[in-house]
Amino acid sequence: MPKNNKCVYFFGGGKAEGKASMRDLLGGKGAGLHEMTRIGVPVPPGFTITTDVCRYYHARGRYPRGLEMDVSQALKRLEKQIGKRFGDANEPLLVSVRSGARESMPGMMDTVLNLGLDDQTLQGLIRQTQDPRFAYDTYRRFVHMYSDVVLGVKVRDETQVNVFEQIIEQKKRDRGFRSDTELTGDDLKEIVGRYKGAVKAKTGEDFPDDPVAQLWGAIGAVFRSWNNDRAVAYRELYHIPDEWGTAVNIQAMVFGNLGKACATGVAFTRDPSTGEKKFYGEFLVNAQGEDVVAGVRTPRAIVELKGLMPKPYAQLKRVCRTLEKHYGDVQDIEFTIEDNNLWMLQTRSAKRTGFAAVRVAVDMVDEKIITKKEALLRIEADHLNQLLRPVFDRYDKQKAALEQRVLIKGLPAGPGAATGRIVFHAENAVEWTRNGERVILCRIETSPDDIRGMEVAEGILTARGGMTSHAALVARQMGKVCVAGCEALHIDYATRVMRVNGTTLNEGDWISVDGSTGEVIKGEIQTRQSEVLEAILQSNGPACKSPLYRQYSKLMKWADAFRRLGVRTNTDQPDQAKVARAFGAEGIGLCRTEHMFFQGDRIQAVREMILADDEVGRRKALAKLLPMQKEDFKAILEIMGDLPVAIRTLDPPLHEFLPSREEEILELAHVMSVPLESLRDKVKILQEFNPMLGHRGCRLGISYPEITEMQARAIFEAACELRQEGKRPFPEVMIPLVGSREEFAAQKNIVQSVAEETMKVYGVKIRFLIGTMIELPRACLVADEIAQEAEFFSFGTNDLTQTCLGLSRDDAGKFLPTYVLDGLLPEDPFVSVDQEGVGTLMKIAVQKGRRARKNLEIGICGEHGGDPKSIHFCHRIGLDYVSCSPYRIAIAKLAAAQASLLKLE
Ligand code: PEP
Ligand code: MG
Repeated sequence: MPKNNKCVYFFGGGKAEGKASMRDLLGGKGAGLHEMTRIGVPVPPGFTITTDVCRYYHARGRYPRGLEMDVSQALKRLEKQIGKRFGDANEPLLVSVRSGARESMPGMMDTVLNLGLDDQTLQGLIRQTQDPRFAYDTYRRFVHMYSDVVLGVKVRDETQVNVFEQIIEQKKRDRGFRSDTELTGDDLKEIVGRYKGAVKAKTGEDFPDDPVAQLWGAIGAVFRSWNNDRAVAYRELYHIPDEWGTAVNIQAMVFGNLGKACATGVAFTRDPSTGEKKFYGEFLVNAQGEDVVAGVRTPRAIVELKGLMPKPYAQLKRVCRTLEKHYGDVQDIEFTIEDNNLWMLQTRSAKRTGFAAVRVAVDMVDEKIITKKEALLRIEADHLNQLLRPVFDRYDKQKAALEQRVLIKGLPAGPGAATGRIVFHAENAVEWTRNGERVILCRIETSPDDIRGMEVAEGILTARGGMTSHAALVARQMGKVCVAGCEALHIDYATRVMRVNGTTLNEGDWISVDGSTGEVIKGEIQTRQSEVLEAILQSNGPACKSPLYRQYSKLMKWADAFRRLGVRTNTDQPDQAKVARAFGAEGIGLCRTEHMFFQGDRIQAVREMILADDEVGRRKALAKLLPMQKEDFKAILEIMGDLPVAIRTLDPPLHEFLPSREEEILELAHVMSVPLESLRDKVKILQEFNPMLGHRGCRLGISYPEITEMQARAIFEAACELRQEGKRPFPEVMIPLVGSREEFAAQKNIVQSVAEETMKVYGVKIRFLIGTMIELPRACLVADEIAQEAEFFSFGTNDLTQTCLGLSRDDAGKFLPTYVLDGLLPEDPFVSVDQEGVGTLMKIAVQKGRRARKNLEIGICGEHGGDPKSIHFCHRIGLDYVSCSPYRIAIAKLAAAQASLLKLE
């Protein structure tokens, strides 16, 4: 049981037993009520039953001993404060019973208001208020809520008709009224009778008329609501642990429905969508809280309250200022005005959009409410993402949802919004876009062959593949919108049709994909480019004047000042390198040379190289590739100036460059004028059962040293030419999939001698390094050996995760989500580094590597390099830099700064 045995914490009369820092025990709402009481904000008195009790209740099926006594004593204290008695027929005290977990879970759990009413106390309420209408209205609300929450009376029957609403609507119709407020006391009295009748008909029991029994009924129901379907689903979605439990807050009722001098509302101390310093909210006169939330009546904008109730409005604004200052953050508040007196019912940090998060953080530093450090720690990765991604027009998307056009939800693999016409083949994507169409490339899965189609498409949608599938990683690198792994999507390439949950879509139909949420929507939805991205890409352009961009760049400057980790980018295209520089990349951490093989008609030369029968033939084909690769490297090295550029030698198995379908083989044989049979044989020979563990990475360069030689030559010739032009290129040649010192040394020797030879020919010296990817467990375990040869390490955590966990990165998407849902894995290890397993290997590699070579440069270029949690881990284990796709650079910089700041604490 609760360690200190204290189950109930009281607040009221300016004193509170709890405080803000006790949210684990008192829940967010409870801690807020206690804290507000302490700092002199008007809060109706009450008490909180702790989350420990909730956990005990769920574990044992009963309350801890002594709780009944504690609650009864707290109730007595409350009665004394208020001067009314619970269950008293003359001066009845009514209470609210509200849930409140550590993290706010808005609307997910239950609440009961106006508790303590029965036929006797009702008379007391009438006498007290001299307002029978109010009393019966309150009673009606209570019966409705209690029946729903505690008695489990389904307010909606099989026909989805709300039984209680039906009764009230019927009465309004009989009386010819439009609004609830027109109902008289007598009408409401009759409605209460009918409500109770409906409860009896549904449960076979009378509505409980003992306030103490009602109270315990409500406490139990609130605890149980921790496990209702909504709450469980919400916890899954936001990774809230099941064991946290909820607290219960029992508070004296204040009434916003006691006449015209009463109101109730919700407000934000600043605009939660834009962050503008503007009091923002809604209220209703003569109403209770649920009326605002339930939308039965249309609430009014908060500014109107100023004219209606100037005194409480001024007080509310004062309180908001106090709260914002006290908490140092935008607050989301609930209030009630009873007879012109303001009461605060809740305060919490407001949930906000990325736009608001950035603006508020920067404004609050300027206003000296928080420090730069606090501002940086408050921005989430997702917040920055929102600033950069194209956005769907909000109303257009809402309309689509209302029209039930949301077809399916897949993995949000490349954030942003894209809308276009369905195409199924990369070449069609190219052709259609050439004709001015916007397209979404829909594939069962993508292969490097689709890259040109992916490049021109607005967005990419795949039926298979996880977050590090080819589609996802290329999409992110390109800054493309991508939804992957929609398992229920059936694509038929032959008929050019796809089916999803009963809807059939043809090539050319309009579709929209939201890569931030994973939603796939039928039809067109308007999008627009984010102003911040526009400003970043056109430095000094007019968009740079945008206030949001200015705030963003201020924040980035602070991040740069605090971070220790360097931030590089993964890119293999000159235009992507330009984007990366605009984002402030400090080098390239991974240039995948194989992606360059697909451009233009290079694939032809690549295929000639693969199909060659001997070294002579291969060298002939490689000689054709050399100038093209050199041209690419030169362009990239030039854009990156004197920053390091890690260029990786060829990595994927060769068969990836050959077609697999019979008709494609036929076509290729024709184009290349090679015998069909020999081409077919070659394709067959190159096929592997397990290509990811097969003839790839440095193994290719070991088998065919001339490939490594050509690539090294292209790199150094490019660099030497630039040096001759007075530039200072800094290539880092990176060997993939190394597992031993010998393998690395063999490749290094080739690179080293080509480097020396080329520099001699050009008569220049250039700065360069030769290092390796660390992407096999063995490489980690013998990192000291490898580091004797290698000048740098770069963790390839995509392959390291695959090989450490024995999980295929291309197939795991089928079953990994179940692992995560069932809690067998905390999250997808291809998204966030598996710190216990893969992370341990990384630590070993860092320690061993640096032991052998003190100044060994170590980075990461797997997809994890753009994941904030993994970046924190990389900081902790002492890496020098992370490398991520150009569009994640800002996020990586922020996460790197946060990692430094958290370590300082
Ligand atoms: C890796 O394995 O993490 C890596 C960066 O290489 P690739 O994804 O190209 O295999
Ligand atoms: Mg790899």
